[in-house]
Order: sequence, then C-alpha cells, then structure tokens
Amino acid sequence: MKPTLVIVGRPNVGKSTLFNRLTRSRDALVADQPGLTRDRHYGHGRLGRKPHLIVDTGGFEPQAKEGIVHEMARQAEAAIAEADMLLFVVDARAGLTPQDLVIADLLRRSGRPVLLAVNKGEGMDRAVVSAEFYELGCGTPCVISSAHGDGVRELVDLALDSFPDEADAGDHATEGPRVAIAGRPNVGKSTLVNTLLGEERVIAFDMPGTTRDAIEISFERNGKAYTLIDTAGLRRKGRVFEAIEKFSVIKTLQAVEEANVVVLMVDASQDISDQDAHIAGFCMDAGRALVVAVNKWDAIDTYRRERVKESIEQRLNFLGFAHVHYISAIKGQGIAGVLSSVDKAYAAAMAKMATPKLTRVLISAVEKQTPPRHGLFRPKLRYAHQGGSNPPIIVVHGNALEHIPTSYTRYLERYFLEAFKLQGTPLRIQYKTSK
Ligand code: GDP
Ligand code: GDP
Repeated sequence: MKPTLVIVGRPNVGKSTLFNRLTRSRDALVADQPGLTRDRHYGHGRLGRKPHLIVDTGGFEPQAKEGIVHEMARQAEAAIAEADMLLFVVDARAGLTPQDLVIADLLRRSGRPVLLAVNKGEGMDRAVVSAEFYELGCGTPCVISSAHGDGVRELVDLALDSFPDEADAGDHATEGPRVAIAGRPNVGKSTLVNTLLGEERVIAFDMPGTTRDAIEISFERNGKAYTLIDTAGLRRKGRVFEAIEKFSVIKTLQAVEEANVVVLMVDASQDISDQDAHIAGFCMDAGRALVVAVNKWDAIDTYRRERVKESIEQRLNFLGFAHVHYISAIKGQGIAGVLSSVDKAYAAAMAKMATPKLTRVLISAVEKQTPPRHGLFRPKLRYAHQGGSNPPIIVVHGNALEHIPTSYTRYLERYFLEAFKLQGTPLRIQYKTSK
C-alpha cells in the first residue's frame, strides 16, 4: 500500500501551502476543473521517489470541546491514528507556542513516526531557527519554506526513506475486479455492501489484526467473482456487516488505490457537495475506472429527481466517461445495473490494444483533426503503443509533441476511448518525442 503522510499543526503555520506544493497535480485533468482542487485535503504526492498519499488535517485545535472545531479535531485525530508518517508543521516566524507543545504531546502519544517541519524559514539561519523547536521532542527540525519550496523535497525524501519500495502492482491473488465503494458519510455505502453480500455467497472474509490493512471481501454473483475493498471499517456482525468507524478519509483513499473499479456513491436526497466532487477528483487522479451510483432514489419525488440529474451534470461533468445509475441500496433496486457497469469498466480498464490498431486509430484521429501549429512547430504524431492498464496508457511517438495543447490531448483521449469502445475508464496519453 502507498504510504500516507499526514500534515498536522495549528492554524496558519502553512499546512495548506505545504499540501499544495506536495500535491500540485501534474495531471491537467484535475487541474482543469475549477474549484475542484480548492480546499481539497487529500491527494497524490508529486514529489519524492515513491508513490504516496498526502492528507492535510486542516486547522487543528486539539483542546476544542465542541462545534465545528471539535469535529475537525476529531477528524484530525482519526487521521493521525491511521497515518504512516506525520509531518508536524510549526512556524519559524511565530516561534514555539504552547499549542505546539500540546500537539507534540498528542503526536508522541499516537505512536506514529513524526517529522518536524519548521516552516516559513526562507532567508533565515537554519541552526538559529531550529534551536528552540528541539524542545518539542520530535527529533531534528527540518527548516523549510512551503511558499518558496526550500527544503520541501528533502523533507519528503526523508519521510519516504523508511518505507519499502512499492511491490509490483497486480500481484493480487483474487479473481475478478477489485471494487471500492467510495462516498462521503451516510450516502449508503454499508447498506450497499450488505445488500450485495446478503444475497450472495461470501467466499472469504479476511480480517487482519490491524486497522491499517484494507479488509477484502470476496463474493460471487451470476457466476462472476468480485472482491470488495472495504472503505468504511466494516466488521462482521452476525450475517451482516456493520460500519464500526463512520468515515475514514485514509481508508477511502487506500481502498481507491487498491481497487480496479470504484463505485462512487452519492446521496440523491442531498445536493452534490464539494466533498463528493473531491472524492470523485481523487478517483480521477488515481486513474481508476468508475461507476456512479446515485443512491436513495426511492426516497425522492419526480421534481427532486430532475434536480439531482442536473446537479450531477453540473458538478460531476468531468466524470463524463462514467456510467450513472440511480439506485436504492436499501431496496436492492438498480444493483444489477451497477455490477454490469463494473464488469464493463473493468474490461475497459484492462483492455489490451494491439500496436497496429492503435497506430491506425491515431492516424485517423489526426486526419480528422490535426494538432494546431505552435509558432514554428507543427507537432507530428507518428505511431502509438500501449504503455499500461487500469487506466489504459497510450504512448504516442512523434516530433515536437511537447507543443500539443491539453485540449488536443483530451480530443485524442476521447477518440481512443470511442474507437476501442472502452466504457467506464479514463485513458491517458503520454508523448515520446524523437530527437
Ligand atoms: P494553514 O492554516 O496551516 O493551512 O496555513 P496556510 O497554508 O493557509 O498559510 C498561512 C499563512 O502563512 C498564509 O498567509 C501563507 O501565505 C503563509 N505561508 C505559508 N507558507 C509560508 C512560507 O514558507 N513562508 C512565508 N513567509 N509564509 C508562508
Ligand atoms: P454509509 O455511511 O455511506 O455507510 O451509509 P449507511 O449505509 O450507513 O446509510 C446511511 C443511512 O442512509 C442509513 O440510515 C440507511 O438506512 C440510509 N439508506 C441507505 N441506503 C438507502 C436507500 O437506498 N434509500 C433510503 N431511503 N435510505 C437509505
């Protein structure tokens, strides 16, 4: 599993600035979506040698007893408990504060490894700045500047050093698609799991000792095998499963990473929220095949149904490739359709595309629409081969390809998806320019 680095610290020390620097998406797919990356608190780390996830705990005031601040503290504590590594951020300009000491104490008691980052250290003497922060008992302070980038790469390398290199993907023993059901709290994820498993034979249920391992549940339906990767901290209780911890961002992220196909669940009785869009954006970023399940369709009237459809078109339009199903998890309605889309999306994500056909499709795409000239350069696309699966990656060879605009890449993506009739998966294009 990819290590998860969790950023903690009191408000205003520069956590979200650090988060943005660590996760700034190189993939325009997500960056293209205005509003999607704003206020997002989890993402894929872009610096460092190994793939990893980053979580920002937001403003953290551990002593708050009630209200939204208390809720945030509760969420932060959950994230701390599940972190592989904590990045504890303090402020070089403000110096050591009593709140820093409280947080340090809490972090030490969590037993998770901690790296101390002294932020806003640009233009300051490292030794002088770090001196007072040894008192936190969190090891040697790393002086960084999130705003300017100084020391950030070194911090990430240090954080990732202690984790083994990721084992080769695809060595899972299970058959059939690995499916994660993702969505914000209360959309009906556990209900769907129980509906799926209640009717079907559960092949194996595997419950490792620690909360850090994803729990996998295999089942069969119509003679086909599926493996559910738990996102909700489910525990078996009699014949059914019960969520023990309501919502865990880190479990959701890890499950999405481990899955081939994500069923993104939203709640038809609520408006599509930023959190829905953020979870969807994370799945996109991870390149996962995707099926959207709009749940609680039983609970709303015709008027509301129309509004929900509009709202999905507006807020989740970047998931254009994903099939949308309107379901009732509690009544078992629409579930067969979801599973059939899961099958299609899985097949599409794993499709094998032969080089001659890829090249033929590329040439016909270019004949229909040539890439725009860029100054003196006219990009020339010559041939293509497949560079990976889940998501399918198509490597395009040619000249001056670095001048191809994003809009043209999107056009090619759509063209390939259509030509190969791939439904339910994103597809990525990579360019290799010959010298
Ligand atoms: P958060 O509340 O911990 O997430 O903090 P923010 O990332 O919102 O940053 C709080 C303030 O500190 C903002 O005004 C940032 O521009 C500023 N800031 C963040 N990082 C740095 C840095 O490396 N140097 C300086 N001088 N200011 C920074
Ligand atoms: P989770 O937090 O995403 O796992 O959500 P739960 O499965 O715990 O469901 C949250 C609430 O929504 C519970 O009260 C469920 O009974 C209710 N619920 C789940 N699915 C449906 C549905 O299809 N229709 C209706 N009306 N309620 C549902």
